[in-house]
Amino acid sequence: MRSGCLWPGFWGLLLTYLLVPIPFGSVPADWLQPEQRLHERTVIVEAFAREKLWYWQKHLDLEAWKATLAIVRSTELRPNTLGNIRWDAVNQTATIRALDPADYSLPFREMLDDIEFTVVHELIHLKRDVELNNYSRSETNRSKEELRVNDITESLLKADRGH
Ligand SMILES: [Zn+2]
Repeated sequence: MRSGCLWPGFWGLLLTYLLVPIPFGSVPADWLQPEQRLHERTVIVEAFAREKLWYWQKHLDLEAWKATLAIVRSTELRPNTLGNIRWDAVNQTATIRALDPADYSLPFREMLDDIEFTVVHELIHLKRDVELNNYSRSETNRSKEELRVNDITESLLKADRGH
């Protein structure tokens, strides 16, 4: 938005003013200073992901779990993954890690959708493990499980987003 323009002019300022109070999806991150922007994005994404985590925990009937969320850089995740989950079934605690916006190249809104996808995907791993607690973790089963989890995540999000 207006990246080649030093002075946004009256309409630009008015637009900025009008955009400020609008939550998450419409945050106009582009008018922030570059160094502010990265930090701001991480903070916004963290708040967004925590809200989605709580929402989907309720939706998937996992409220009894004490789940926490961390936004991490790509170096803390397995190569080519966008998140992971670790849980302790005895204490019913879980930690989901999701990729930091600094390592995303998607537009802001699409990145938020993608992070929500990660949150739901990881919760479904937990959900399925709770329900089918005997599935084996061999590599073959692992990739089948990933596909199955993605299918479930996609249909849940489609239904939730109303299309
Ligand atoms: Zn997975």
